[in-house]
Amino acid sequence: MAAARGIAVPAGAVAVVTGASRGLGAGLAAAFASAGLRLGLCARHVPPSPGGRDPGITRASVDVADADALEKFANHVVEKYGRIDMWVNNAGILEPVGALRDASFAGIRRNIEVNLMGVAYGSAIFARHVHSRPGGGILVNVSSGAAKHPYEGWAAYCASKAGVDQLTEVLAAEEARFGLRAYALAPGVIETDMQALVRATPPERFPAAPRFVELHRSGRFNSAERVASYALSLAFGESPGDDIDRDAVVHRVPGRGGE
Ligand code: NAP
Repeated sequence: MAAARGIAVPAGAVAVVTGASRGLGAGLAAAFASAGLRLGLCARHVPPSPGGRDPGITRASVDVADADALEKFANHVVEKYGRIDMWVNNAGILEPVGALRDASFAGIRRNIEVNLMGVAYGSAIFARHVHSRPGGGILVNVSSGAAKHPYEGWAAYCASKAGVDQLTEVLAAEEARFGLRAYALAPGVIETDMQALVRATPPERFPAAPRFVELHRSGRFNSAERVASYALSLAFGESPGDDIDRDAVVHRVPGRGGE
């Protein structure tokens, strides 16, 4: 067991993280590697190895909107490590940003394909895997405060994240009796390329942009480490006093920021 502050990661446990080439996904991968997990990491660009460490880490170029490629990747991780214990659907895009009437049909479709279909494919692949071997599993679908708050300028993003929450609720209900626990996790505001894009958007296209500029200025962002620690507590926490309700499906990482 590699234990850290009430978290007991079973020896040899394996986690998959999508969208691990940068941003929150890369931060989750680094924290998971430090916690002793073996990892399957993917994104369109091959993710870097956390800490330059290659043993126990499998990396690949995968577009999560391509269900067959994602399934092939999952099979490869299982061939290599024998099983997958935890699966984090983190890959996501923000665009198109601006009034829906100004968005291209291709842009709207792409957002839903990556943020919602990608999560649906990953969730289904992982649920099938859990059914294929003994023991349960932990699914974490990265959501957003935008799942609940209707931000002007983010119609596709808000819709996709609301879909992620509801998809996760249904999957959690379907799979609980088979030992699969499923969570939708809103991480709070994290400093990533996506967040830089949020701040760079003119208020005419995204009226809430100044709020994110102010959160950044006043240093009220969450960190990937905090999100990783919350996700690990959900998955492997053994302390009943950590205030996390593991029976709830939709979670938000406590933080000082907003969405
Ligand atoms: P980011 O910095 O833009 O990183 C996005 C990651 O997803 C990258 O690794 C990217 O890698 C990957 N990705 C994008 N499209 C993909 C695709 N089609 N297939 C596979 N991988 C893909 O964004 P982030 O801020 O880290 O966001 C990560 C997650 O957190 C997203 O789901 C986002 O909605 C959510 N979130 C973020 C914030 C925040 O404040 N940052 C707040 C709430 C929720 P490639 O380009 O190499 O594919």
